[in-house]
Amino acid sequence: MAIERTFSIIKPDATRRNLTGAINAKIEAAGLRIIAQRRTKWKQADARKFYAVHAKRPFYKDLVKFMTSGPIVMQVLEGNNAIAKYREIMGATNPANADAGTIRKDFAESIEANSVHGSDSAENAKKEIKLCFKAAEIVG
Ligand code: GDP
Repeated sequence: MAIERTFSIIKPDATRRNLTGAINAKIEAAGLRIIAQRRTKWKQADARKFYAVHAKRPFYKDLVKFMTSGPIVMQVLEGNNAIAKYREIMGATNPANADAGTIRKDFAESIEANSVHGSDSAENAKKEIKLCFKAAEIVG
């Protein structure tokens, strides 16, 4: 298995409920290392740019509103098979369909307020990391 990097966001529903540490504990227990981390609050333009691939989806406007509704924590995670591994421990987009023990099953409030984002491919991981972090901020 290859050592990979993936991009993660702890979303506003989770920061609001003070769950950053609980989510980080699940990330680290899965063998992933948090090699960059920054808490911030997105402006509308940041969220629109990040989710541009979803611009045509009916939930895009709501998603941008939600992602700018409070602080987020952006992260780079590193480990064996990190992209698929993180998707596995995140659980399904809709927490109602997520497996037991996953972040979304344990913490998500709804299909929208689902506590975390994780890159869905190597190509997107690279793009998202580049968009949100400078190389010097990532310390593996
Ligand atoms: P992910 O890769 O599992 O995060 O899912 P997607 O890439 O399909 O969607 C991106 C984000 O949009 C999700 O994490 C949710 O926050 C939100 N989202 C997805 N589907 C819906 C939906 O049907 N309704 C609403 N309101 N939000 C959604």
